Amino acid sequence: MRVSVDSGSCHGHQMCAIAAPEVFGSDELGNATVLIAGDIPVELQAKARRAEANCPERAIIITE
Ligand code: SF4
Repeated sequence: MRVSVDSGSCHGHQMCAIAAPEVFGSDELGNATVLIAGDIPVELQAKARRAEANCPERAIIITE
């Protein structure tokens, strides 16, 4: 699993970083960044999916 954020859609709620702080951080504008380059470790995948499901802007993209 890989995760990315559509920066054009992200509104900086930071709900993703609350749901999965190991996976999501924020840039200087408060928009989400992905902290893990490459595959998301298995133990963090459920958190990443929860973050994706709860993003109000549907800005989180998960690819398998
Ligand atoms: S919850 Fe969605 S819109 Fe909000 S910061 Fe995270 S990716 Fe961006």
